[in-house]
Amino acid sequence: MPFLNDLKIPVVDLARGKREAVERLCSIAGQDPAPVFKNTITALGDRRYRLRECEFSAELTTGLVTRFCPLCLSEDRDEHALPKAAVRHRLHWRLGPIRTCGKHNIPLENVRMGKWNDMLHEVQAMDDAVSAAYIAACSLEPRNPSPLQSYVEDRFKGIPGPVWLDGQAIDQACRATEMLGGLMAFGPEQKAAEMTEDM
Ligand SMILES: [Zn+2]
Repeated sequence: MPFLNDLKIPVVDLARGKREAVERLCSIAGQDPAPVFKNTITALGDRRYRLRECEFSAELTTGLVTRFCPLCLSEDRDEHALPKAAVRHRLHWRLGPIRTCGKHNIPLENVRMGKWNDMLHEVQAMDDAVSAAYIAACSLEPRNPSPLQSYVEDRFKGIPGPVWLDGQAIDQACRATEMLGGLMAFGPEQKAAEMTEDM
C-alpha cells in the first residue's frame, strides 16, 4: 500500500480494477495497458463484475478469500534473488469454479486472513498460510480440474462450449451446473449450503 500511495494510486481502486488506476500504473511502468485490461476483473457496482466479454455477480469470484496453489508459488520463488517480487497471485485463482491447479493437479488452497486488505489477494503477506499449504500439499490426493473448471477457463478465452450453457450468463451456467451436479452426485438430501469446495 505505501508503494501505491507513493504512486498516487488508491489501493482500493486498483483492487476493483478501476480504469484510471490501471492506466496510471501501466503508464508509470511503461506497460501497454491493453493486455492488462484484458486480465483485469472490473467492479461495476451492485456486486457485479466484468472480465473480458463476461459480466457476472460477485458469487462467481472467491470474494475475500485468497485462493492459490502452494506449488506454483514455490516455483515463483525458486532461485529468485527477490522471492517476494517474484511471487504472484493469478487471475484465474479469483474465479470460484477454478478449484484445482491444472499444472500440479492438486486442490487450490483457500485463505481468508480476516483483515481489511483481504481484497488485495496479496500472497506475499500470507507467509505462514502459504508455508502450511506447501507442507500439506505433499499429502494431497492428486486430481484433475473439473469439467466445469475447464468450461469456465475456455469461456473466458472465447472458446465455445455446450450450447445450453453458452446460452446463459456465465455465473448462471456455473450455478446450474453446480446445482444439478450436486443433486446427481449426492442426492436430494444433501444441503447445498453444507457442501465443501472438494465436493
Ligand atoms: Zn500449481
